Amino acid sequence: MDFLVGMKIYVNFELPEEARRLLGGFEVVGPGGDLSEVEAALVTRLTPEELAKMPRLRFIQVALAGLDHLPWEHIPPHVVVAGNAGSNADAVAEFALGMLLAAYKKIIQYNERMKRGEYDRVYAVPMLRGRKVAVLGLGEIGTRVAKILAALGAEVWGFSRSRREGPWRFTTSLEEALRGASAAVCALPLNKHTRGLIRYEHLALMAEDAVFVNVGRAEVVDREGALRILKERPRFVFASDVWWGRNNFAKDAEFFALPNVVATPWVAGGYGSEEVWREMAVEAVKNLLAWARGETPKNIAKRSDYV
Ligand code: NDP
Repeated sequence: MDFLVGMKIYVNFELPEEARRLLGGFEVVGPGGDLSEVEAALVTRLTPEELAKMPRLRFIQVALAGLDHLPWEHIPPHVVVAGNAGSNADAVAEFALGMLLAAYKKIIQYNERMKRGEYDRVYAVPMLRGRKVAVLGLGEIGTRVAKILAALGAEVWGFSRSRREGPWRFTTSLEEALRGASAAVCALPLNKHTRGLIRYEHLALMAEDAVFVNVGRAEVVDREGALRILKERPRFVFASDVWWGRNNFAKDAEFFALPNVVATPWVAGGYGSEEVWREMAVEAVKNLLAWARGETPKNIAKRSDYV
């Protein structure tokens, strides 16, 4: 790996052993070190203070799929930023489908009742086959989810920005995707175009007893709109892995108290599994190595999505 000799790279989190080994050729600088000669950074998050110490920075590889948390205003336009979409997409797709099926097929609801000693068969268990299901965001996660839903016989509608072909009806209209849908899975990234995109009036287009699953970022959904639909429609289920308070889940306790909310603490991807985190770290390092070799790395961010 001669191309790496002398290249300084800043890493501000603890890398799993396998990923660290791949980085062997770089001169790795950690927090507290001299960052003045650093050309590339491998990070989960990054502060304006860290950026200010790296005048020679040319490339930022983020180990997470989402890039919404970066201090975009402080990243000089010539610095290339790459995300890590795809590295955890199998895990997140599995999780989204698990949430959807567990809620839609009343598994969660019956489980809660059984544990309380309530054994009556109070819910009809609906079929997804033949029902309209919207997948919002046809990226690495969304396309996986959409293909599996199609294999189950659902009528899948895919909403995204760029056209992608697959076993779904493609639309760029959120209204068209959600109107009459029995379920939806949201795997949209959070950017300046998607913040607050899904509002009350969109959720209200769905079936009375629809299940809305979010594994993207909470802020894509308008918080007040979600609360309103949940209070108005007791049969509507909102199942989410991501919350507006980010890792401060207590901020969203008002949701968790509602009977028609299914909640998990941001565990669909790397935060929920060391195995997934290891794979994410390895993929991030491989992408960084591709950049260092002069190749075009994957997942280059569109700066205009954030600034
Ligand atoms: P991808 O980048 O592969 O997919 C994102 C998709 O969203 C692309 O198809 C993109 O279209 C589309 N999109 C972007 N902006 C818009 C817009 N304004 N309107 C409509 N569609 C848009 O990412 P992933 O599928 O891997 O991940 C999606 C998000 O899920 C991540 O950004 C992250 O925030 C979240 N995530 C959550 C995890 C968790 O633990 N819960 C774990 C992993 C990811 P285009 O190709 O045109 O840009």
